[in-house]
Amino acid sequence: MQERGKKTPYIIGLTGGIGSGKSTISCMFEKLGAEVVDADKISHSIVSKNKPLYKEIVKHFGSDILDEKKELNRPALRNIIFNDSKEKAWLEALMHPAIKSTILEIIKKSQKPYIILSVPLLLESGNYDFVDRVLVIDVPESVQLERIGKRDNISRELAQSIIKSQMSRSERNKRADDIIVNDAPIEDISKLVKQLDGKYQQAT
Ligand code: ATP
Repeated sequence: MQERGKKTPYIIGLTGGIGSGKSTISCMFEKLGAEVVDADKISHSIVSKNKPLYKEIVKHFGSDILDEKKELNRPALRNIIFNDSKEKAWLEALMHPAIKSTILEIIKKSQKPYIILSVPLLLESGNYDFVDRVLVIDVPESVQLERIGKRDNISRELAQSIIKSQMSRSERNKRADDIIVNDAPIEDISKLVKQLDGKYQQAT
């Protein structure tokens, strides 16, 4: 809390497993007037070509880590850190403080009534103890598999192994203040979002 300084808006940490609907639902909140801060987007933008962190990463891993456009080759980087815990720790030590300070900067400047802070690993990371409330987007694994299969064109096995590497549904739900079960038509989910928006608009 202290790091946020005084008089910052109410912060809702939004999380959920891969393909649970975080972006879809964040977008609904945004249309209702929330400030949406997406940690994934921030983590991409702070390492775009020639940014200070980009340079650090290239210095560390060498130019083999770049694609033909000289942008970071994310799958290659993911592969390295997936197989090497030391490199993973190095990259996280570089990235996490920068992501957090960018998030806090956006929050400080926001004029919106409340913030939806979307972070895939909100509950795992321990970096986001400043959120006021946790909103979990929950879906049955079968729905998750079907949606990410369609969207990302990845194998069922890979999708399953990603789901397995993440926090379990029951553990995540236990730590939620609010839960949206995103296993219903979009129009129904929109209504639930509207109800929560009413609650969050009143929160201080
Ligand atoms: P990631 O973890 O990969 O960032 P995400 O949690 O942001 O994913 P989305 O991209 O919002 O998830 O949703 C995953 C897919 O499911 C998308 O193709 C989206 O259009 C679809 N989807 C989300 N909610 C629903 C719904 N209620 N009904 C049908 N399809 C949905």
